[in-house]
Amino acid sequence: MNLIFLGPPGAGKGTHAQRLMNELGIPQISTGDMLRQAMKAETPLGLSAKKFIEAGELVPDEVVIGIVEERLKADDCKNGYILDGFPRTVAQAEALSKFAHIDVALNLSLADDVIIQRLSGRRVCLKCGGTYHISTLNGREDCANCGEKLVQRKDDSPETIQNRLSVYAAQTAPLIEYYQQKGLLHTVECDASASVEVNYQKVRKALGIE
Ligand code: AMP
Repeated sequence: MNLIFLGPPGAGKGTHAQRLMNELGIPQISTGDMLRQAMKAETPLGLSAKKFIEAGELVPDEVVIGIVEERLKADDCKNGYILDGFPRTVAQAEALSKFAHIDVALNLSLADDVIIQRLSGRRVCLKCGGTYHISTLNGREDCANCGEKLVQRKDDSPETIQNRLSVYAAQTAPLIEYYQQKGLLHTVECDASASVEVNYQKVRKALGIE
């Protein structure tokens, strides 16, 4: 199954994509994680992406399209993949349709006030992509998965969060209509008061996983 996870920042795309990756044995391809790793390694890609990411703006289409096109050629994508955070513009979706066949675009929807609360307390692992919220860490500072020290993303600051939500509304939300028209859209209304597990079961159901 070739999947796209759509939805605003903080809706749970990464969390559910990682669970699904473990359950289905197909890779989660997060352009955000790839760009952050490039930034950490100070590669030319990372250095050029840094200013956009830290301002909450999108990295130029041609850059991310190139990364994804290359990544999808890898062997581990043969049986399917989960695109997490790509496409984010209609131009990216159009480019993707030229080199990939998408089965489902899953749209995770969540209220804005919950998103802000989630993102401002988020801590991430830059090594394995693990994501946590300070309210559940009980003071713990390292990744439960790989032991790396957790950090707060620079773009999870209050001003940048607002900008990312505006960028999402203007540039990414139109993809909901785009994939609806193609008959590929499934929407999951995430319940912020419910557990990750409960919401994950909604994701599975929307994908027809028994
Ligand atoms: P994410 O981890 O998915 O929230 O992405 C973090 C940041 O990386 C975004 O705010 C953008 O600056 C950049 N980014 C990730 N994916 C894309 C994409 N598909 N197109 C453009 N910029 C992206």
